This record gives sequence, C-alpha cells and structure tokens, in this order.
Amino acid sequence: YQAKEGGGNVAAYDSSRDDASTDQLALLAELREALATDDQLVLALQPAVDLATGAPTGVEALIRWQHPRRGWLGPTDFIRPVENSEQLGAFTRYVLDKALGVAAEWSRAGIDVPISVNLSARSLLDPRLPGEIGDALRRHQLPPHRLVLEITETVVMSELEVIDEVLATLRAMGVQLAVDDFGTGFSSLTFLTRIAVDELKVDRSFVIRMADSPEAAAIVRTTVGLAHELGLRVVAEGVETAEQRTALAELGCTAAQGYHFFKPMPADKIGAVLGSLLDTAQGNVFPLRADG
Ligand code: C2E
Ligand code: MG
Ligand code: MG
Ligand code: MG
Repeated sequence: YQAKEGGGNVAAYDSSRDDASTDQLALLAELREALATDDQLVLALQPAVDLATGAPTGVEALIRWQHPRRGWLGPTDFIRPVENSEQLGAFTRYVLDKALGVAAEWSRAGIDVPISVNLSARSLLDPRLPGEIGDALRRHQLPPHRLVLEITETVVMSELEVIDEVLATLRAMGVQLAVDDFGTGFSSLTFLTRIAVDELKVDRSFVIRMADSPEAAAIVRTTVGLAHELGLRVVAEGVETAEQRTALAELGCTAAQGYHFFKPMPADKIGAVLGSLLDTAQGNVFPLRADG
C-alpha cells in the first residue's frame, strides 16, 4: 500500500490482474493437455443410499484433477474458468464418457444403479448435447434412464428457451434430471412447472443447520413433502452424522448421501461397494456405518 505514485499503483493493480488471467489461461492450456493425455482427470464416486433399506439409490460422479504441478485439484479450483471457456464442451463430453464407462462396468456385473453427472449451466446452451449424450449411452450400451443429470436451480432459472429445449429433449430420450442444491437458488418454484424433473437434492446447508434451526428443518420437511406430492425422489446431501440421518428419516426423507455413509471413492472401489450394499439390503439389515 505504497500510495506515493498513483500511476505506479494502477500499474501494480493491472499487472496483478494480468497475472490472474495469465494463470487462468495457463490452467486452460493445461486442461487441454489433460483432456488429450487422458491421465490426469479422475472421477470420485459417491453412493446415495435408501434410508430404510440401505440399498444404493444412485452414485454421483465428482471430478478431480491430479495435476502434475499443482497437485490434487477439486472442481471448485477449476470449474469456473472451464465454464467460461471454449473447452466446456470437450470437458463435459469427457466427464460423461468416463462416468458412463464406470456405470457400464457395474451394469455388466448385473448392478442396475444409475450414475449422476453434474452439468454446468452453460453446457445446456449447446443444442448438440442431447445427441452427444445419446451417442455416449449407445457406445456404453446403457439405457438412458441409467443416467441422471444434476442441474442447479440457477440453470433452470435462467428461462432460456434453448435450455428448456435441451432439457426436454434429454427427458424425452429417457435421461433423468435432478435439481442439485435445491432451495439455494433465487428462483421461485415455478421452474418445477416448466421443466419435468425426477429428483430433488436437498442442499447440504439445510442438512447441517436442521438440528438447531427450525427454519432449516422446515425447509427440509417442505422439500420432502413437495417431492412426495410431485412424485419425485428426494435425496439429502452432505449427511455427516447419525443424528442428521435420524432427523432426515423422521422428516420423511427417503434417501441420503454424505460422509456418514460414504466419502467419494475411486472408480475401482465402487463396484464392490454397490454389490455389498445390495446384498445387505436384500437381507434388509442396514449396516450401522458402512464407511468412515
Ligand atoms: P455438488 O454436486 O453439490 O456435490 C456435492 C459436494 O459435496 C461434493 O464436493 C462432495 O464431495 C461434497 N460432499 C459429499 N458429501 C459430503 C459431506 O458429508 N460433507 C461435506 N462437507 N461435503 C460432502 P466436490 O466434489 O468438491 O464438488 C463441488 C461441486 O462441484 C459439486 O457440488 C458440483 O456442483 C461441482 N462438480 C463436481 N463435479 C463436477 C463435474 O464433473 N462437472 C461440473 N460441471 N461440476 C462438477
Ligand atoms: Mg451434484
Ligand atoms: Mg449438490
Ligand atoms: Mg451442494
């Protein structure tokens, strides 16, 4: 904060901003490399479970980047610049292909559990997306209902016709749609009348505050009731404790996901975990704690 020379300060400010955008450009160039070499981007997989039976209701794919220089990066470290770049299409296709590849593996083992993939709002602006998803499903020989696309309310809120059309096409193909982080958008609930969805995911922030905030508990209860009334599935996100799990069950929530059940795990572990969850559920004995 040496404010001696105004001009110098402006220059310093500008150059730090340049550094930030230079770094983003570097990151995007590195992503191009990672997509091409196919050895840095990996999916972590996190099951959601039925609270009554313990059966897996789905598995969410969460992207990770094992960067050769920057170390392990999570989606929040790089998704934003990717979303605003020309590489979004390639990135989205890459994630979908990897996720469907994993699901095809467990499907071949006779496990019919759907895979959920998070989509950036902007990828829904591309009218080629449904066709690409159809191709990918055929390539991996998976029925469309085995794929769930997680979209956030902000997406659905934008009321862009092209997004509605892309989503309607996907739904007509038989692909399932879930509203992620439900309750955190600034939208009214009207989007649920505009776009048919299959699942609502109660945002983690409400699950965390449920115990000491009557408002948060009311939001969870209302979301569960809304889902029930509309015939949609409902999944609580970010469940970390047995208390939260019990409270959710008491509020009528039927499925949940979170560290209390499973942390996101590598692809080579997921098949065995799903298999043993299904075995246990068939015996109807729910493991008190399936994972740390
Ligand atoms: P999300 O879809 O709401 O995913 C849930 C996030 O919460 C994940 O973080 C997950 O690892 C984390 N989580 C799960 N259970 C718990 C828990 O019990 N406690 C806590 N504290 N956290 C839990 P992650 O993997 O860092 O992903 C963050 C967000 O990045 C995701 O939020 C999703 O919106 C986005 N994202 C992840 N993968 C992709 C992707 O492949 N493409 C796009 N476009 N976005 C992605
Ligand atoms: Mg999600
Ligand atoms: Mg979420
Ligand atoms: Mg969330």
